[in-house]
Amino acid sequence: MDDEFKTLKTFDAGKGREGLFFSLPALEEQGIAKVSRLPVSIRIVLESVLRNCDGEKVRRKDVEALAKWNAKSPANAEIPFVVARIVLQDFTGVPLIVDLAAMRSAVQRLGRDPKIIEPLVPVDLVVDHSVQVDFFGSPRALELNLDMEFRRNRERYQFLKWGQQAFKTFQLIPPGIGIVHQVNLEYLAKGVLSQKSDVGGQKSELFFPDTLVGTDSHTTMINGLGVVGWGVGGIEAEAGMLGQPVYFLTPEVVGLHMTGQLREGVTATDLVLHITQLLRAQKVVGKFVEFYGEGAASLPVPDRATIGNMSPEYGATIGFFSVDQESVNYLRATGRSEDICLAFENYFRAQKMFGVPRKGEIDYSVDIDLDLADVQPSVAGPKRPQDRINLPELGKKFRELLEKPVHDGGYGKKQVDLREKHVVELNGSAPRNGAMFSTDTKEHQGIRPGEAMNVLEMVANRPTPDLGKEIEAESSQMFLHGRTHIGHGSVLIAAITSCTNTSNPSVMIAAGLLAKKAVERGLRVDPGVKTSLAPGSRVVSDYLAKTGLQTYLDQLGFNLVGYGCTTCIGNSGPLHPNIEKAIHEYDLVAASVLSGNRNFEARVHQHIKANFLMSPPLVVAFALAGRVHIDLSHDPLGKDKDGKETFLRDLWPTLSEIQHTMQSALTPETFRKFYRDFAEQNPKWNEIPSSTGDIYQWDEKSDYIHDPPFFENFAMEPGHIAEIRNARALGIFGDTVTTDHISPAGAIKESSPAGKYLVSRGIQPRDFNSYGSRRGNDLVMTRGTFANVRIKNLMVPGTEGGVTKYFGPSRTGGSKNGEGEQMSIFDAAMKYAETKTPLVILAGHEYGTGSSRDWAAKGTRLLGVKAVIAASFERIHRSNLVGMGVLPLQFLEGTSAQSLGLDGSEKFSITGLSDSIKPGQQVTLEIEKDGQKRPVPVKLRIDTPIEIDYYRHGGILPFVLRQLLSK
Ligand code: SF4
Repeated sequence: MDDEFKTLKTFDAGKGREGLFFSLPALEEQGIAKVSRLPVSIRIVLESVLRNCDGEKVRRKDVEALAKWNAKSPANAEIPFVVARIVLQDFTGVPLIVDLAAMRSAVQRLGRDPKIIEPLVPVDLVVDHSVQVDFFGSPRALELNLDMEFRRNRERYQFLKWGQQAFKTFQLIPPGIGIVHQVNLEYLAKGVLSQKSDVGGQKSELFFPDTLVGTDSHTTMINGLGVVGWGVGGIEAEAGMLGQPVYFLTPEVVGLHMTGQLREGVTATDLVLHITQLLRAQKVVGKFVEFYGEGAASLPVPDRATIGNMSPEYGATIGFFSVDQESVNYLRATGRSEDICLAFENYFRAQKMFGVPRKGEIDYSVDIDLDLADVQPSVAGPKRPQDRINLPELGKKFRELLEKPVHDGGYGKKQVDLREKHVVELNGSAPRNGAMFSTDTKEHQGIRPGEAMNVLEMVANRPTPDLGKEIEAESSQMFLHGRTHIGHGSVLIAAITSCTNTSNPSVMIAAGLLAKKAVERGLRVDPGVKTSLAPGSRVVSDYLAKTGLQTYLDQLGFNLVGYGCTTCIGNSGPLHPNIEKAIHEYDLVAASVLSGNRNFEARVHQHIKANFLMSPPLVVAFALAGRVHIDLSHDPLGKDKDGKETFLRDLWPTLSEIQHTMQSALTPETFRKFYRDFAEQNPKWNEIPSSTGDIYQWDEKSDYIHDPPFFENFAMEPGHIAEIRNARALGIFGDTVTTDHISPAGAIKESSPAGKYLVSRGIQPRDFNSYGSRRGNDLVMTRGTFANVRIKNLMVPGTEGGVTKYFGPSRTGGSKNGEGEQMSIFDAAMKYAETKTPLVILAGHEYGTGSSRDWAAKGTRLLGVKAVIAASFERIHRSNLVGMGVLPLQFLEGTSAQSLGLDGSEKFSITGLSDSIKPGQQVTLEIEKDGQKRPVPVKLRIDTPIEIDYYRHGGILPFVLRQLLSK
């Protein structure tokens, strides 16, 4: 390691240890720049650039450029950020380890040592995305869901165990432990890291800030602890693991100055929903946000983490809080060693980065003020997290949306009587045909006695494997029965889910206290509501048990269902079949209430159209109310055991109740106890057999793990960048197409190309599992690309789902009268592949918004799409497209597929592409119709010089592989 700028200094790392560090104050003393005025997050990145300055990967001018960061006009330069570690979750992590395994196989085929493929920085993978809520409302729900999870995911888990032994720097945290970001916050993050180093001839312990990227967009949660980290695509994470810097454009930094404090009755969730709406309106996409001022300093770390977590929802790369005494206290309170805590505090003090900045101390690109006292109790939805609604206005808003036309974002219902309800029997029989009656919706006549319903009916025709005898016997005891009445706005899912909130003891304890008061008054939850509690770590269960609150949650059906992502990622599990049938039959706009962070259509559950994000205590309150068309500030949410109306204010816990309960239950020992010996505490994991060796033995019989074709015909020399000629449109989409629209994570429909393929492999629909769980298999994932049931291809107006029109030649006459032949997107892509016809996608604004999802780019590439032309792109998806060798192009302001009158029958050429292209330059989209050609200028959304290299190499993976092989 070099000391190019002579900034290497020593500091007291605590307990008599002397540590080395690359000093930012020393950089300032040398007159390079006024570093102390830089946003703290920029300084942390600068430290990495300074420390890794070797003249090759990181150059002297990279350090100087970032040190001279100009708040009002940041340089248009890419920053090579070498991160300290990587975190993965299993949905995105499995394909990444599959790619590493495929690279090892490719290297072996080339006759080289496969071990040159090895993560160069520590990698932690937390298996959290695979648990689904099949069982709920029972003390055995956790155990049974875990059992189902292991049955469904055995092949993937076997593969991960191979990875665990094949790669030295790879730690795996097995299922049933927690959610990746909460585990990161409570355990993995150290705040400052160290390594034995020989720097400038000095052998010592070198300290540096804990920084990371993760293959999950909510990696940003960790910024609440002062650790810079964000979500990247699997493709970039792979590059990071293989020693490449993560490149990003010098960001603007928005300073959000907080004053005041939250009012009584307002939660951290309300605050984050407020911030999400505020910052979305400020258009912070691609920017850093730093929270500062006395208000920020007064927030405890879990509140900061909740705010950091939702950065993807407000669009920022990160939402950062500086390290201060609160951060150090949090590390101590969560059982980190005294060595770690002291080094953390002393390091940041030595760097003059300790403490939350006050107004005027830092130069920000944009300044925004927020008085915390202005935050109101809120929910957000029904489709987007930034659509915040003040709690009292939800009922009115829902009614408006119900009747609003679909093209204005409503549900297009006519003359709705919200008192109209449909009877649904929950004992397995179908609802009476056409049965319907009016009732006062304030009264719930449903019963929730907590007994006997045969689970086989519940899971019939669902994507679940065969249940063992033991589970069958058990499940016949656990499901609720009775009768419910559902209509528009009925709450059918109430989920305390998502690390956004489960990492925050104040809102979890508030939910428990509210449940306690409700139970004590004799309130019940309607049997039609699917209730669940899925914390992000076992610590939550421990404090809910110690405080006695879990008992009350249980009595309302919020039994523990798993330690994982569940409803937050859409793993909500099936609703009662009769409920699903009634929704379908009466075309109901039913609702879910969840403490998650995303609510795009079909994400939470395919049958639930209105999804509202809210704090855990509000989830319990709405479960009790049973409907969302209610003003909880005025309307009663139920009647107590004496028939007396009960209001939210009667149940809501005070701040001092919450704090008092919290203090009595959280100790460092609890964290230490739960964060050790993961495998030992997990016998199911230990039972899984694992193969050994450096090379993975691909099994052609597996439908979960398959050797992807990314390295087929791999040559040491990359090709040249060439123009794209005579391409066809595979899809034309509107605004806000999410990565979930492009590559869904949820259920696989039997009639979809992926479903048909799995059936052809002898797999029963009930064993399909989800797309997310099959991301290790390119054959399924390519078929699943653009297969979301809600995606609307404007080439085939009036349809939903992955259909398109094929305009190429075909045996059946193909494009009859030039109108095109309707078929699935996958089938069309394969037919175009027969004639080597390149493909393009056209789209509106915010293309690729939502979770980072490398398969959204990989599937696009494997379908044969050469370019995506959109009005604008979300950050990670755009870089993933480049990372897979797919060209992102942007329409110029005022131009769109609609303004150009495109219907998909045209031919498209992209001219002006060559090896000498420059980031952001204009090229020409040539549109040919009826023999007429029309040139349209478009902007190349290859944003940095290194991305031109990636694109020329056909993506990051071949680029990195060629680099490693050339050594
Ligand atoms: S709980 Fe939700 S936000 Fe957290 S990691 Fe899981 S899916 Fe992502």
